[in-house]
Amino acid sequence: MTKPVVAIVGRPNVGKSTIFNRIVGERVSIVEDIPGVTRDRIYSSGEWLNKDFNLIDTGGIEITDEPLLTQMRQQAELAIQEADVIIFIVNGREGITSADEEVAKILFRSKKPIVLGVNKIDNPEMREQLYEFYSLGMGDPVAISGSHGLGLGDLLDEVLKHFPDREEVVYDEETIRVSLIGRPNVGKSSLVNSLLGEDRVIVSSIAGTTRDAIDTPFTLDDQQYVLIDTAGMRKRGKVFESTEKYSVLRALKAIERSDVVLVVLNAEEGILEQDKKIAGYAHEAGRAVVIVVNKWDAITKDDKTLQTFEKKIRDHFLFLSYAPILFVSAHSKQRLNTILPMVNEAAENHSLRVPTNVLNDLIMDAVAMNPTPTDKGKRLRINYATQVAIKPPTFVIFVNEPELLHFSYERFLENRIRATFEFKGTPIKIIPRKKN
Ligand code: GDP
Ligand code: GDP
Repeated sequence: MTKPVVAIVGRPNVGKSTIFNRIVGERVSIVEDIPGVTRDRIYSSGEWLNKDFNLIDTGGIEITDEPLLTQMRQQAELAIQEADVIIFIVNGREGITSADEEVAKILFRSKKPIVLGVNKIDNPEMREQLYEFYSLGMGDPVAISGSHGLGLGDLLDEVLKHFPDREEVVYDEETIRVSLIGRPNVGKSSLVNSLLGEDRVIVSSIAGTTRDAIDTPFTLDDQQYVLIDTAGMRKRGKVFESTEKYSVLRALKAIERSDVVLVVLNAEEGILEQDKKIAGYAHEAGRAVVIVVNKWDAITKDDKTLQTFEKKIRDHFLFLSYAPILFVSAHSKQRLNTILPMVNEAAENHSLRVPTNVLNDLIMDAVAMNPTPTDKGKRLRINYATQVAIKPPTFVIFVNEPELLHFSYERFLENRIRATFEFKGTPIKIIPRKKN
């Protein structure tokens, strides 16, 4: 299920990021703890009355070094393109400015649902400031105070009313949902075109072209796949579409709907911080990952180039140690035919189930080999382990004291599991639980 997307729009200093952080709450800091992943504070998930949604702070997206007004226009357009509902924030202490009117005009034309939040109404006496904002023509303004956390419930009530009843395209169980993510210009759309152009690949004709028909179903050797957000990968033009933060947004949406994520790198440019960030999202989301180094034709190579590059990837993407790496070229078609077989393998491992007895034998052997840790005279005791989920494979380990299962021992157990079941291409999760 794709979550609805809510975008916050408004000129600088009206309080967008304050409100964003309020709505997102503690979620942001949780994911920031993952080593190797720094999260942009512009996109996160929120929840209100049991409804989940994704929230974008468009103010955090500096699109170009254009004049302020141009940037605001671009941010508004981005919100229109990406969001199901737009929160338009103005400053209740300053009244309507010409920049507000400018943005309002753009939003208005889009026909997207807009909720107008008048911020910095820090106390009830200030509520009369609200009336002026009716003239923006966006219905009832909602009085809020981001810094005091007032009125946000009312604001979100309004937002929820506009969530679409989306009819999700549901692909059947056997279909592998694949997406390609990566910085602009690494070659995602070239790879898509080359993959779909492969000899035995049969691209299904898409029935009906609804607004949401952005995926491309295809088959190879009786295996069904669907390329997620093909349209997004191919679309070109608007300034913001080539910006890095925008590409992160796009990637996040695609990751959410995928089983296997191809993280595309550019051999010519090597590994940049942004690559790690994007790959980090795929890992965090628990998707299967294959690393694809594209433009392998474009660099001069000797007999060490591949190994050196591979080592560099391993050093930079410590959290993706399970991900296989392919060196390909969309242009020369070199090794393109290795991609889908690797996708199959990763997808299979992503939904692999380990029989409980085998798992427990394996854990007991591991414990015999490397005794469980102790802390303040207390030793971790493992009673029993069982796999509770797939996609990704998730193991619950029942223990005497969950806190005693330190990261390093958890790592050791993961390695022992992987020594028997390679789980190539997929993260696995281990969750300690207190035995009752
Ligand atoms: P952004 O540029 O729109 O993201 O605005 P920020 O969230 O960075 O806020 C700009 C300034 O307004 C900061 O100094 C905030 O502390 C302040 N601010 C945000 N919300 C409120 C509010 O509800 N009341 C008051 N008095 N100040 C606020
Ligand atoms: P995207 O932004 O990630 O979708 O990247 P594109 O597919 O648009 O490719 C960006 C540029 O890289 C284009 O000029 C492509 O022609 C070029 N390119 C893509 N794949 C390859 C490749 O395998 N080798 C070389 N030399 N260039 C490539």
